[in-house]
Amino acid sequence: MSSLSERIYFASPIWLQQLAVSSYGWLWYRRRMSRHFYRLVAEYQSRDNWTREQFLAYQEKQLLQLLETADGSPYYQAIFRVSRVDWQLPAFKILAGLPFLSKETLRTRARDLVTQNPVPNSTSVFKSSGTTGTPTEIYYSPEFHALELAVPAVRNLGWAGVSYHSRRVMFGVRKVCRFDQDKPPFWRFSPAEDLAYASVYHLSPKNIPAYLDFLRTYRPDMIMGYPSALHTIAQYAMEHNDKPAPAKAIFTTSETVTEGHRQTIESAWQCKIYDRYGAVEGCMLAFQCEHGRYHVSPEVGIIEIVNTEGYPCSLGELGEVVCTGLQNLLQPLIRYRTGDVARWAIDQTCPCGRQMPILELIEGRVEDICITSDGRQMLRFDTVFKGVENIREAQVVQEQLDLFTICLVPADTFEEHDIQKIKDNMRLHAGEVRVDVHLVDQIERTASGKFRAVICKLRQDEKDRVLNRVSE
Ligand SMILES: [Zn+2]
Repeated sequence: MSSLSERIYFASPIWLQQLAVSSYGWLWYRRRMSRHFYRLVAEYQSRDNWTREQFLAYQEKQLLQLLETADGSPYYQAIFRVSRVDWQLPAFKILAGLPFLSKETLRTRARDLVTQNPVPNSTSVFKSSGTTGTPTEIYYSPEFHALELAVPAVRNLGWAGVSYHSRRVMFGVRKVCRFDQDKPPFWRFSPAEDLAYASVYHLSPKNIPAYLDFLRTYRPDMIMGYPSALHTIAQYAMEHNDKPAPAKAIFTTSETVTEGHRQTIESAWQCKIYDRYGAVEGCMLAFQCEHGRYHVSPEVGIIEIVNTEGYPCSLGELGEVVCTGLQNLLQPLIRYRTGDVARWAIDQTCPCGRQMPILELIEGRVEDICITSDGRQMLRFDTVFKGVENIREAQVVQEQLDLFTICLVPADTFEEHDIQKIKDNMRLHAGEVRVDVHLVDQIERTASGKFRAVICKLRQDEKDRVLNRVSE
């Protein structure tokens, strides 16, 4: 929604908001449930049981086409010239010789990456708002747009045994109610999609009972949303024995699902979580299978995991996720640095039998990797909160090399000695560091409503200095 239509929407009475959401939903449904969608679903289904060799052959062919098409954009033409691309080489070899594409370059030169001039009329441009400056523009052809829903239809919903025809509730992304609305309904319906959009901004203890009533009446088969929002509901439900109707599957995205949160959410809705990992830029997708492992969809993009020097990490080694989107020929993203941290699973076999590569997600951002004075890099602090039951939420912030702040939202049963336990655990985990614990009412979300479990305030050059000193 543009900011004008957003203002009109939020100034409208609830019944008119409801009408707007259902009309919008209908249009949206028409656009994405296109012929492209059904064809793509059939194609992705047919490849679900491919062997590793089949996927590689597919990637090689698609990559060559991508590189040839990219040569038509001003940005890549220059890059290919400077990199002296030898078109006689196999496509993967050419790729390995190309420079990385940074977020900053994509943000400032989005239009230069586009391979068609003028841009076809059917193109839609998605603007993702960053924390600073101009938003990043991603160009979508109708076909590429359909992909965004077609692949999850097969590999997220499909693996969980549901479909887009099943009833669902979505928590997040869209703001559907005014912030100052203080009575239900905190949800709006889109009948064409058999979907309700629920607000994540009104999940206070006062309102959660109304949400639970709604979930029992509406009886969705599936729930989608940020795990932190779903956990807030699930935790209330379990503590007050006031559960939602059981669902068939939960779909989460965008944030780490900690083991504790997973258990609470799965107990409240009595079904499994199927997490998804993707980039808003559409250049990669990975989905959890029924065994909880993240399988990359090789047709969507080529994923590399690279270390700080830009070289490929070995299996099990932590690094930055770099991806080359194989499907967006209109605006190719080649070796795009996502800033996400992950590693390839050491064991690349899964009991589900699928041969798609397996990622282990150490969710978090490269800039939020904390570092100890002896050079250990850390992105997860789950163990620090092990055995401390009385916490609703926690956020770890590295302020200085030897100073951490932990913000805690305590539960009613929280006691003074829990603080000591956390400090002790923190020292076991991170060594001799100072730890300040702050008890707070809530932990601030990012502009897009995301919860950040770890924040590192050290600059990259400070981190590099420690790492260099340790390696000497
Ligand atoms: Zn699997």
